[in-house]
Amino acid sequence: MIKEITAKTMLSHVPGPDSWFGLKYNLNLYRGCAHGCIYCDSRSSCYRIENFSDILVKFNAIELLKKELPAKRIKGTIGTGSMNDPYQPVEKQFQLTKQSLELMDKHGFSVHIITKSDLVLRDIDLLLEISKTYAAVTFTVITTDDKLAGIIEPGAPPPSKRLKAIEALSRAGIYTGITMMPLLPFITDTEENVKGIVRQAKDSGAKYIIPVFGMSIRTGQREYYYQKLEEHFPGLKGRYEKSYGLQYQCPSPEHKRLSDIFTEECQRQGIRIGMEFFTPVKSVQPTLF
Ligand code: SF4
Repeated sequence: MIKEITAKTMLSHVPGPDSWFGLKYNLNLYRGCAHGCIYCDSRSSCYRIENFSDILVKFNAIELLKKELPAKRIKGTIGTGSMNDPYQPVEKQFQLTKQSLELMDKHGFSVHIITKSDLVLRDIDLLLEISKTYAAVTFTVITTDDKLAGIIEPGAPPPSKRLKAIEALSRAGIYTGITMMPLLPFITDTEENVKGIVRQAKDSGAKYIIPVFGMSIRTGQREYYYQKLEEHFPGLKGRYEKSYGLQYQCPSPEHKRLSDIFTEECQRQGIRIGMEFFTPVKSVQPTLF
């Protein structure tokens, strides 16, 4: 179900240096996500989203951004895509992401987008404009197997489409890479999968991969994830319970070995581990001599 809601503010400040993406601000235009990934952290009870499959559209988002953007003194990178996908299907209709990018471009902000959708290609011209300052698009790819992705990310475009979108963005000159996170214990934490992602990243023109070698599990998310494990991977729920109990951090039992394999493969393929950030440059008075 799609519902319109009123937001109070749009940009939240990212406290301290963000070592993952170099963000200064976070932007969430929607609440809930139709991509329906079974492992999604945004289902955790701490976020107080009643029904994650309901998509709440912040209908006044653009009006608020028109006021908030010019009022910010630091023009750092605005990140979108950590709590929901800014290019989930509802974006086709409401175009809040597109309108936000137009405003970021107008006011000189840089952007980092996390998505699983090739709908981002619709905004390629805008991203090219913002790229004159800094724009990065990071696709989440945790398996290259479209069939498996259909089970664990049932509402999202398949990885093969995401890799093609990376190719198109990269060819256009937009800084593009991959988040390989989470790596699901006993499902996607294999040498074959990790090497496959790095190789296909290279083939598609991705410049970087940001990896984790496990997953986090919290209350709310755990119940949903385990229910889906029971449906699709009989016997795995018990293995998770035995290995992790109620732990938040759930590293793959293979995390050390996989990390070494990943690093070696990235070196071989010439893929950067972690991304380059935008560093705001202070303007200086031009002088003649
Ligand atoms: S695309 Fe991201 S936010 Fe949406 S369901 Fe999947 S993990 Fe959650």
